[in-house]
Amino acid sequence: MSDQQSPDALARFEGELAQHAYAFADGLFESDRDQVFNREGWGLCARLGIQAMNLPEAHGGSAVGYTEAAHRLERLGYHCRDNGLLLSLGAHMWGFQSAVVRFGTEQQLDSMVPKLVRGAMIGGLAVTEPAGPEPSAISTFAQETQTGFLLNGTKRYVTNGNTADVLLVIAKTGRDDSFLGLSAFLVDARTPGVSAIRESTMGVRTSGVSTIRLEDVFVPFNYVLGGRNQGWRIFNHAMNTERAMILAPTVGTICRLLESCTAFVRTRSTESRRLGSFQSVTNRLADMAVDLRACSALVRALANDLDHDRLSRSGSCEAKLFLSDAWVRSSMNALAIHGGLGYLTQSDIEREVRDSFASQIYSGTSDMQRNLIASWLL
Ligand SMILES: Cc1cc2nc3c(=O)[nH]c(=O)nc-3n(C[C@H](O)[C@H](O)[C@H](O)COP(=O)(O)OP(=O)(O)OC[C@H]3O[C@@H](n4cnc5c(N)ncnc54)[C@H](O)[C@@H]3O)c2cc1C
Repeated sequence: MSDQQSPDALARFEGELAQHAYAFADGLFESDRDQVFNREGWGLCARLGIQAMNLPEAHGGSAVGYTEAAHRLERLGYHCRDNGLLLSLGAHMWGFQSAVVRFGTEQQLDSMVPKLVRGAMIGGLAVTEPAGPEPSAISTFAQETQTGFLLNGTKRYVTNGNTADVLLVIAKTGRDDSFLGLSAFLVDARTPGVSAIRESTMGVRTSGVSTIRLEDVFVPFNYVLGGRNQGWRIFNHAMNTERAMILAPTVGTICRLLESCTAFVRTRSTESRRLGSFQSVTNRLADMAVDLRACSALVRALANDLDHDRLSRSGSCEAKLFLSDAWVRSSMNALAIHGGLGYLTQSDIEREVRDSFASQIYSGTSDMQRNLIASWLL
């Protein structure tokens, strides 16, 4: 057990999170309204060692393992109410960093990991296109030149799109439609020809979801990740890891929602009766408690599978499907329990409902997860 995993280290981590919870919540109503990314929160997460958790020790990361990372992210989700920031972290760590760590060359890791550890570099994964999220829908093309590639195309809904320093772009390097002709490129977001247009979203409004346009963007050969035509393998690795881990903070979120709803039900009275005396209200608490326990067990089981390199093909899809539905259910239960109070825009609950619905779309919609799970059953 590393020092990071000792009970003392975990208690210290929890204490620091509790102490800094204000930094995550400070001005959240305004940042959500104005779609402002929480840079202070991102920096704070780096100081707490969050981004370093899946980065190699040899380059300054802490490589704590998935089980440990899941536990810490759960606690982060409990203390941090900025779901846009949590999505930004998830896309960065599991969509972007995990691919760089797995497929990056020593030179790529040397140049990037120290900045990633410090929170001085933000990454994004750019797959989805106007024609859809599947690799077969990709038309962004990388034309080989003598010294590298020229990329042209449009990527949609890229989390961190307008804040990222580096984008991992999946593009075609072959003229046929086969997924074998895809490659992954590390694109410096400041390269001439890259532009980001911030989309206005229903929820997770602090996460910088953007359309990325690539017009004759030059990428040198040494910024191809994993070698030419490895885009499909890299996409699969990133999606599997992202689907398994991106909703780990949701366990903490549901826990916080359940605690605040329970406190509300205990104290609020209507028609001279306590809310807790209405079974229709307490049933909602019971459903939230069941969702919390199931989500927690799923995340831990999957993290353990990842630690032992035995994640099944459908495991990450099952977890992503269940956790996103559970988050939507729990936030809607919280809204119902709070009545008119929950519907006010100043309440955290209406934002929680808006944020939760995004989870049924990113990393592949719930329909797509069901399709994949069923295809492996038949
Ligand atoms: C907040 C947010 C963050 C995102 N972040 C990123 C990111 O960082 N990087 C990135 O590349 N993408 C990102 N996405 C894009 C996301 O992965 C896609 O929006 C999602 O996969 C759906 O693709 P689409 O929008 O093209 O919908 P469509 O493919 O047009 O789907 C429309 C509807 O048809 C259904 N459908 C489509 N195809 C199938 C199928 N094969 N089986 C069953 N049902 C199907 C869908 O479930 C949906 O209900 C993000 C999206 C959101 C909302």
